[in-house]
Amino acid sequence: MPGVSFVEATKKFDDVVAVDHLTLDVEDGEFLVLVGPSGCGKSTALRMIAGLEEVTSGALLIGGEDVTDVEPQDRDLAMVFQSYALYPHKTVRQNIEFPLKSRKVPAAERAARAERAAGLLGLGDLLERRPAQLSGGQRQRVALARAIVREPRVFLMDEPLSNLDAKTRVQTRAELSELHETLGATFIYVTHDQVEAMTMGTRIAVLDGGRLQQVGTPDEVYDRPANLFVAGFIGSPPMNTVDAAVDRTPDGGVALRIGTGRIELPAALARALSGAADGEVVVGVRPEHLTIGQGPIEATVKIVESLGHERHVVAELAGTHEHQDEIVTGALVIVRQSAEDPAPRTGERVGLSARPDQVHLFDRRTGERLA
Ligand code: ATP
Repeated sequence: MPGVSFVEATKKFDDVVAVDHLTLDVEDGEFLVLVGPSGCGKSTALRMIAGLEEVTSGALLIGGEDVTDVEPQDRDLAMVFQSYALYPHKTVRQNIEFPLKSRKVPAAERAARAERAAGLLGLGDLLERRPAQLSGGQRQRVALARAIVREPRVFLMDEPLSNLDAKTRVQTRAELSELHETLGATFIYVTHDQVEAMTMGTRIAVLDGGRLQQVGTPDEVYDRPANLFVAGFIGSPPMNTVDAAVDRTPDGGVALRIGTGRIELPAALARALSGAADGEVVVGVRPEHLTIGQGPIEATVKIVESLGHERHVVAELAGTHEHQDEIVTGALVIVRQSAEDPAPRTGERVGLSARPDQVHLFDRRTGERLA
């Protein structure tokens, strides 16, 4: 039975459609990350689960039960926000115990559960301190301990790490994944940060404009993005996408023209192009899948950027071509090299290539994946 399900769920604020016919099953016990750019509707979707936003149409199920009209406090879930909202005059122990106290749990049980929650989050030595005496990361862990002490079935988290510095964020990310394993509860986590999504989620759901673009494991979304939006959003630096013209030869072969280059497609990719609308496609290649050498795509090196362990090379594709009466000049692409690869020089003319199985093809008109 799924943990949480959106069934054609829509949320409108007057004429703004924040969440648009969302259908998504979050499995019991999974760590699902809702990710997307600012304004895509991810916080609203999370708040709909919590019962903090009314569902305009459609339904929301928790544990298979329709909770669309159930009050927030009756939904057996805990929400952790970006701001920790701890009680400043209470100690860490009192803060963690608070949700139990307000539910009239007896003192001895409260103490035991608070200590267990504090222990899980490495707060055992800080129980008598007050929030002002803690670091940002420690405060966020107190907020987490306060959420888990109630032992809810579903945890909702809205950018809980965004106030932390980079190092603490990486550490807390790992702790949250561990906590998820230990508790076995359902985690639904909102972030705009695709690295957080990729590293923490057992699955990630990518939203844009209130609509679900794709849901899958991090590998599925990275290796087979469903459309150009996902291709550009997941991955850093993002996937290179360039326009290509499709040439069909009389013997049934298919080739792509990119800049001055021409690439014969293997049969499997060629078949996927049969549905391409106007014979023009967008070719996508991840920066780490482009090789600099004797490849068929001519380019000029514009920028060489060393990051220590790797190198980013920005290159401009040679040649111009006409598209809808416009002259389209050389697109810029990024090549990600290992620091051990020989470095090209700025201004050098090079040939780029990619393995056919690492090339993604998208319909230029709809943005949908073809292959
Ligand atoms: P961010 O990462 O910036 O928080 P988000 O992806 O979480 O963005 P939401 O906060 O869910 O996006 O907002 C989705 C859309 O709904 C936006 O266009 C936003 O302006 C609108 N919106 C959200 N809350 C309200 C509200 N209370 N009243 C009116 N419009 C709202």
